Formats: sequence, C-alpha cells, structure tokens
Amino acid sequence: MAFVPVNEPLLNGNEKKYLNECIDTKWISSEGPFVKQFEAQFAERMGRKYGIAVSNGSVAIDVALAALELGHEDEVILPTFTIISCAAAIVRAGAIPVVVDCCPNTWNMDVQQIESKITDKTKAIMVVHIYGLPVDMEPLQKLADQYGLHIIEDAAEMHGQTYNGSPCGSFGEISTFSFYPNKHLTTGEGGMVLTNDPKLAERSRSLRNLCFQPQKRFVHLELGWNFRMTNMQAALGIAQLEQIDEFVARKRHMGKVYNQLLSGVAGLQLPVPEMDYATNIYWVYGIVLADDVPFDATEVMKRLADHEIGTRPFFWPMHLQPVFQKMGLFDQVSCPVSEKIAHRGFYVPSGLALTESQMQQVAEALKAVMK
Ligand SMILES: *Cc1c(COP(=O)(O)O)cnc(C)c1O
Repeated sequence: MAFVPVNEPLLNGNEKKYLNECIDTKWISSEGPFVKQFEAQFAERMGRKYGIAVSNGSVAIDVALAALELGHEDEVILPTFTIISCAAAIVRAGAIPVVVDCCPNTWNMDVQQIESKITDKTKAIMVVHIYGLPVDMEPLQKLADQYGLHIIEDAAEMHGQTYNGSPCGSFGEISTFSFYPNKHLTTGEGGMVLTNDPKLAERSRSLRNLCFQPQKRFVHLELGWNFRMTNMQAALGIAQLEQIDEFVARKRHMGKVYNQLLSGVAGLQLPVPEMDYATNIYWVYGIVLADDVPFDATEVMKRLADHEIGTRPFFWPMHLQPVFQKMGLFDQVSCPVSEKIAHRGFYVPSGLALTESQMQQVAEALKAVMK
C-alpha cells in the first residue's frame, strides 16, 4: 500500500487562477493588491478590524510582542505544551517565559494554574489553542482583567474555530495565525497579526516593514524586520479563505471518522470531540498512549512507519528544551502532564487531502501495531 503522508493540503479552488494573475500582472512582491485584500477579508472573517500579513506564524508572534512593547524582563505566562515559536519570541523580545502545565484531556493550558504564576512582573498571558479545541477563555479573560494583563492569542491551529460562538483569533488585544501547509488555510509559508486597536495595527505594520517612516523613508526611529508577505502567498490565502467553511467541516468529519474507526482500540486516548464551549476542529488528530501500554510514542511511530503511515510526535515541553535550560530558564519547573504526553503522544495523518480509505489504512495499521 502507498505511504500515507502526515499532511497534504487541498489546493483545488481558485489558487491556480489567482497565482496566474500574479504572474500575468507581474505583481509578485508584497506591494501587490492581493495582500491588502487578504488582510481585510481574513480579519473580517475572524471578527477583527485590522489584519497585518507577515511571512509566517512564528514571526507574527515576534511582531505581536514588539507591538505591545513587551520586553525588559516582563514576565509572560504561556503553556509549556506548545511550539518553540511562542517561547522563542518571548525570549528574543527580552521578556521572561513563565510556563503552566496542560490539561490531560484537551492538552490545552490549564487555566486554573495561571493565577499562582502571576507576580508583580507579569505583563501578559500568551494563549495558545492546541490541536483542535480552544483554551477555556472565559476564566482566563477574567484573570487578565483582574490583574491588568495583556492577552496575546496564538490561533495558528484554530482557523474557523469558535469559543462560545466567538471566533478564535478575536480574543485579547492581539492575535496571530500561521498559514503553513498543515494549517486549515495555507499560503505555503505565511502568517497574520490581528487586532482591533488602530495603534497596535499601525505599529505591527511598521515593525513588519523595517519601521520605514512614511515621510522620511530611510530614517528609522525603531528597529523592525522585513516580515512582509508576497502577493503570491496572499493569492493562495484568498483562494483558501473562500473554502474555509468546507475545510473546517471536512476536518470535523475526518475527526469523526477516526473516532469511529479507533474507538474500540485498547490503549489509545483519543481527542475530546467537544467541550461545552467548542466542538473539536482536529487541526491534527492526536493520540496519547494509555499508562498500561508497555511502549512509548517513539516505538508506535516507528512501527507505523513500517506500515507506511506518516506520523509526528507531540510538542516537546518548553521547560524541557535544552536551549532554554542552557540559558538558565525553567530551573526546577515541573509540568507532569506535558512531560507525560510528550513521551506518549503522537499524531496520525490529518491533512485536508486525506481520503477515507487512507484513514482506514491508518486505523488498520494502528490496530496491528497495538496488538
Ligand atoms: C504552526 C504554529 C506556529 C508557527 O507557525 P509557522 O508559520 O510555522 O512559523 C505557531 N504557533 C502554533 C500554535 C502553531 O501551531
């Protein structure tokens, strides 16, 4: 049987047509008309006033932190169970990452643990929605209001998801998205910063574009970056955004199919289909091995590869990253849930182009491997 890749995107809409328009009109840089159009349309869909397109989801976080002027040893609370981009941006900004553990069922940051981490230096909470369900925003928002903390929302895995009916990416002062090919919408590489605050939007736009000044272009008052998105990326983005409802429905259906195929397999903790505030959109279909399974995720992934099934491990917690330990960060930190799922969690092929027969192939292989 043919290898089932862990992700393959769907590019069957107007992607080719709009890309050809870039070539035909010769608008290929960030000056092209699709960029502003994509920013406006994406912001509107996510319930925000302003969108600032950038080159990927990681630098979107750098821009968000810089726009909020975080740094100078400010403490930012974030989940330890996330991608390096979140903590890396905090460290590069000169701020201090303070981590909380995740919930064993949703794998999202445990909101109950946040308050005990708040100090005089805490300035912000970085919310990161993980794998398909949003963070429980209501209690988190209350804490942020009570202590006067900024919220930065990393919604890279949440295109089209809602929390109690409000779009993910519409919470807090500023939010960020990624359009990497394994996200619900892709531009190849790409990202977006969203906000309702005109000043934050202006700052983000300037920071993305080397902080050129409109009046004196080559005189700089601040250091920015070239994080601009090209017209070709935005062309893909517009075509993908036209299909967002279909994509989210398709992912939800895929999650359901996997749930049915795998529900009887002993030793597997499957994703939670829904919480009272949201229905899972299965950015990836994550699985955690039960405690009584005598091998770990590395072993399962190796065996699945022998069955021609692509997989990826779960995130490796921030407090266990050698690069941060070398810097003296996270000394004495312990987050048992994240540590456990880092060893026992993995995800199976979850891309939008995945077919039902491929899902069956994955399920059969998993059953064989778990025997
Ligand atoms: C994918 C992802 C990012 C990084 O996005 P890139 O576009 O790959 O740089 C950041 N945060 C989360 C939660 C992600 O899933």
